[in-house]
Amino acid sequence: MVDLKGQYENIKERVDSSIMNVIETTAFINGPDVHEFQKELEQYLDVKHVIPCANGTDALQIAMMGLGLKPGDEVITADFTFAATVEVIALLQLTPVLVDVDPINFNIDVKAIKKAITPKTRAIVPVHLFGLTANMDEIMAIAEEHHLYVIEDNAQGIGATYTSKNGSKKKTGTIGHVASTSFFPSKNLGCYGDGGAIFTNDDDLAHTIRGIVNHGMYVRYHHDVVGVNSRLDSIQAAVLRAKLPHLDNYNKARIEAANKYTLAFKGIKNIVTPGGFDIEKNISERSHVFHQYTLKIINADRDALVKHLNEKGIPCGVYYPIPLHLQKAYKDERYKEEDFKVTNQLIKEVISLPMHTELDDEQITYITETVINFVSK
Ligand SMILES: *Cc1c(COP(=O)(O)O)cnc(C)c1O
Repeated sequence: MVDLKGQYENIKERVDSSIMNVIETTAFINGPDVHEFQKELEQYLDVKHVIPCANGTDALQIAMMGLGLKPGDEVITADFTFAATVEVIALLQLTPVLVDVDPINFNIDVKAIKKAITPKTRAIVPVHLFGLTANMDEIMAIAEEHHLYVIEDNAQGIGATYTSKNGSKKKTGTIGHVASTSFFPSKNLGCYGDGGAIFTNDDDLAHTIRGIVNHGMYVRYHHDVVGVNSRLDSIQAAVLRAKLPHLDNYNKARIEAANKYTLAFKGIKNIVTPGGFDIEKNISERSHVFHQYTLKIINADRDALVKHLNEKGIPCGVYYPIPLHLQKAYKDERYKEEDFKVTNQLIKEVISLPMHTELDDEQITYITETVINFVSK
C-alpha cells in the first residue's frame, strides 16, 4: 500500500545525518529538533501554535482535555472513520454521538450533524477523511450557531487546503478551534515511529495544552491540572524536519497518481472514482491530498476483487469494514440503523488501492488493468 523505502532512499543523506546528530548530542527528549520542527510546522500551516505529542490518538484526547470537556458532554463525529476518534471521546467519559457520512465525499454529513445536536452537545469532530477536506464552512456555521467547539481530526489531511465560499484559503487543521494530526509512518507526513501534534490559533488553549502534554505542569513540579505524558521524541522530530520541506511535493505526487487512476477508470461500469472535489483544480489547490485512493465498487463483488488483487500481488485495503456504531465497544441503544444508511452501504463497496509518493506509471497501469479486467468480467 505504501513505499516508505523508496521515499527514504531519496532523502537518506539528510535523514541519516539528522538522526545521527540527535544520537551524538544525546538530546533524545525535547531536543532542539522538536522545537525547530514545531516552529517549521507552524510556519508551513500558518497557525499560531503547534504542540507536538506522542501520536495522533493522544493528540485528539489532549485537544478534548484542553477544551475542558466534561463527562456526559456529547461529541458528534462520523460513523465512517478510524476508531481513534470515537475511542478518545469514550475514554474521557464524554458521550460519542456517531452520525452518517456523505455518499460522494465520505465526510461527515452536515444534515446529520444538525439532527444530532442536543442541549448536551459540546463539540463536533470532523475528519478530513482519506485526505479530502470536510465541509468546514457549514460545520463552522453550525458550531457558531450552537456554541460548539470544532476539533479537526487532520490525521489524513495534512497539507490539504480548504477554500471557503468567501474565497479565503486555509490549511486543514487551522480552521476549527483546535486540530489533531498523526505522523504515523504511512500518513502523508510520516515519521519513523509514532508521532502526533495538536494545532490551534488560540493562545490560552495552547498554553493549557502545553501543560497537559507535560503531566499538567506549567511550572516544574507544580501540577496544576491532570495531565498526561505525551512527547514527540527528538529522533522523530529530526525525521519530520527532513520530510516537511517535501510535503507539498509528496502530496502533489499522490494527487498525480490519483488522477492517473481516475482517468484509467473513467467510464468503467461498476466503478465510482473519488468525488466531492474539483479534479481540474486539485493539483494547484490540494483540497484532496489522497491519504487513500478509495473506489466504490457497485453491482460487483468487492470482496472477490480484494481476493483477486491479493492473488495478483496488488496490496489493497478496505477502510473501513465495520461502521463504528456497530462495533461492540461503541454500541448505543439510541442508534437507529436507518440513520446510518450511507455508512452501512459504503462498508460493502469501498476499496482503497495502493497510494504513496513513489507510484510509477507501470504500477498504475498494472493495477488499473487488473481492476478493470476483474469488474468488467
Ligand atoms: C491514523 C489516524 C488517527 C490516529 O493516529 P495515531 O498516530 O495512529 O494514534 C486518528 N484519526 C484518524 C482519522 C487517523 O487516520
